[in-house]
Amino acid sequence: MLIVVSGPSGVGKGTVISRLLERQPELAKSVSCTTRGPRPGEQDGVDYHFVSVDRFRQMVAAGEFLEYARVHQDLWYGTPIAPVEAALAAGTDIALEIDYQGARSVRQAFGNRAALVFIAPPSWDALVARLQGRSTESADATAKRLASAKREFRHIGMFEYVVVNDELERAVIELESILIAERCRLESIDWQELQRQLSSEA
Ligand code: 5GP
Repeated sequence: MLIVVSGPSGVGKGTVISRLLERQPELAKSVSCTTRGPRPGEQDGVDYHFVSVDRFRQMVAAGEFLEYARVHQDLWYGTPIAPVEAALAAGTDIALEIDYQGARSVRQAFGNRAALVFIAPPSWDALVARLQGRSTESADATAKRLASAKREFRHIGMFEYVVVNDELERAVIELESILIAERCRLESIDWQELQRQLSSEA
């Protein structure tokens, strides 16, 4: 299955997901492509694949994205399709940290095989304080992220789950519980095969 994690920039999605990955070795994380430059400490191929706008366009034209979207007005982000297909073929669940537009595309492509989770801040003020406190961003970048955050909130209704990140440990446990519950969905097991076996025994 795919677990899609969305929510405004600065809400701590990345931290919650990395803690979940430590607890769930069977879960992989999709590494997105982006046309933005790396922040200090970010590693190419680990945090993102940092690509030029031209390269991004080529990948779009070649159908290499599962989904892609323009986020923060002028930046492009996309999920490479090949690693997701490889993970699913190997029976590995995969987490996607993408925006609401990407979440909508994944829902259309994967239906119930995808669970959509929105990570929310404890309050709007807390989010503003967190984004403004990020010393790595220019005032312009912060303003664009706040505008994107409002857009994310307007689309909260399309998500199935919401996790409020007021306390990291609790947020991680809640996200893990969603993953575990989704793995227990009837659709995720081959119950028809089970029934065939039962009836052949009768
Ligand atoms: P940043 O890392 O620049 O602060 O913010 C990235 C934003 O873009 C996040 O809110 C994240 O949800 C979204 N994002 C990251 N990767 C992807 C992707 O592959 N597809 C889409 N649709 N959104 C993405």
